[in-house]
Amino acid sequence: MPTTLPDESPIMLSALQHYLFCPRQCALIHVEGVWSENFLTAAGRQLHERVDRRGGETRRNVHLATALRLTSQRLGLTGVADMVEFHRRETPQDESGRIVAARLPGLSGYWRPFPVEYKRGVPKSHRADEVQLCAQALCLEEMLGVAIDAGALFYGETRRRTEVAFDSGLRTLTENVAEEVHALMRTNLTPPPHQGKWCNACSIVEECRPKLSCRSARDWLKKQVENM
Ligand code: SF4
Repeated sequence: MPTTLPDESPIMLSALQHYLFCPRQCALIHVEGVWSENFLTAAGRQLHERVDRRGGETRRNVHLATALRLTSQRLGLTGVADMVEFHRRETPQDESGRIVAARLPGLSGYWRPFPVEYKRGVPKSHRADEVQLCAQALCLEEMLGVAIDAGALFYGETRRRTEVAFDSGLRTLTENVAEEVHALMRTNLTPPPHQGKWCNACSIVEECRPKLSCRSARDWLKKQVENM
């Protein structure tokens, strides 16, 4: 089954992360357009200040591209990468003959991409951040025609990078989540709340009001049954 239908709009890369965190959060933000400015989003914005402005800078053998626009026609994705490091190489192939580096405008040599995503807090037990990063890599691979083996997540609280390998398991998970988010967008419906301790870390808990949304849950279930 294809990930996107021919005339379907691309989904935001961040929607994959939101969906894995909570499908309702994903629908509230990406279907209903709900957003709220609070201490969680402010912390995230502060962390992103350095990488929110589009730009490029070359230091010796590394080119840093910030706020780089990404797209994947195959997966129907669009969005912006916080930062992509491009590491200079003399040849486009690695030792096993795979194309891993591309030409960049105005720069000599070949450049191997390494996406870095900035996240508030600490490394999580779920894989939502890894999936968002892997989706960025899948976009870059399609746009540049290269293979990308790894990237990194930088967490604001630990101020450390966690390297992420884009292995077959993570790639399959990312493609499956992209498919599920497209399916959610097609329904144009917001799932009912699934309340849990994760709601404490949700940036739109005030708008969701998980404890008060039982009525919405009943409406949603009713619509699902009617659409069967
Ligand atoms: S408050 Fe809880 S149920 Fe509501 S969107 Fe956030 S995580 Fe999901």
